[in-house]
Amino acid sequence: MELSIRNIAAWLLSNYFMLIGKINPVKKQAKNGEILLSVYFHNPSKKLFEVCIKWFLKNGFSIISTNELHSIIKNNKPLPPSSVVLTVDDGWKENKENIVAVAENYKIPVTIFVTTSPVETGESYWWTYIQKAFDQKLTNHSVGSLKLVPNEQRVQELNRIKSIVSNNRDALSIEELIAISDSPYITIGSHTVTHPILTMCSDEKSLNEIKDSKKILENWIQKPVNFFAYPNGNYSQREINTLKSNEFDMAFTTKPEYVSLDSFKSPFEIPRFDVLENVSFAENIIRMTGVWFDKKQIK
Ligand SMILES: [Zn+2]
Repeated sequence: MELSIRNIAAWLLSNYFMLIGKINPVKKQAKNGEILLSVYFHNPSKKLFEVCIKWFLKNGFSIISTNELHSIIKNNKPLPPSSVVLTVDDGWKENKENIVAVAENYKIPVTIFVTTSPVETGESYWWTYIQKAFDQKLTNHSVGSLKLVPNEQRVQELNRIKSIVSNNRDALSIEELIAISDSPYITIGSHTVTHPILTMCSDEKSLNEIKDSKKILENWIQKPVNFFAYPNGNYSQREINTLKSNEFDMAFTTKPEYVSLDSFKSPFEIPRFDVLENVSFAENIIRMTGVWFDKKQIK
């Protein structure tokens, strides 16, 4: 954990929530099959991923796959008691050791949503370039500000930065991805080609990002890719329609809510709670169980 006032305050608050039993009603609702936990990671350390798995197992949770979740939703079956679905975004090269090895060790299913271009080209994720340039004062545009501009404008600035900032591989290689996809515990999902903010893209660009990523991944791993996660959590009805017409079955947002019977009505808007890499484990427990985001969801 990074020692900052924010993290220490959050650690204190999280311990207080645990002390007053805020997690108990969540466990109870999960046990009754009223809710299912949906948790996502990006590039956690092996230690962080492992302690999260251990916490779930110790607290009586079972980890189910995205395939199982889809089959439950499709067949309108009851939510299984005390269950969690685990997903990972982007396809970071460290995932191989820190996620896949742990998943195999604990025999638990995990879905990794991969952005294909950084895998194919070895280039960094776009925000790595921008952050580096911003830190070196080579651009006035922060990562956050470029998420708010039309896609062509973001790409234009990115291309300028790419010519002046050095590049390191962030993502898995094609060979690593293929090897990972052979694991019985790993499902590969799509996370677009270049990780744009889809809602800032033209109709054609948004369509191609979704359609092409599926085609590229399926060609690499020789398996159907039917699940999707929206980059940065941004989507509109246009993206849902594109996913439906391109044979996707389910998509994950970053909306921090529980999976409930409501989710059955919109399988292209499955919510997720995020686990952060630089905060205390106490805070991450409170995040994974949704207590952090509690908006009177718990009766
Ligand atoms: Zn992402």
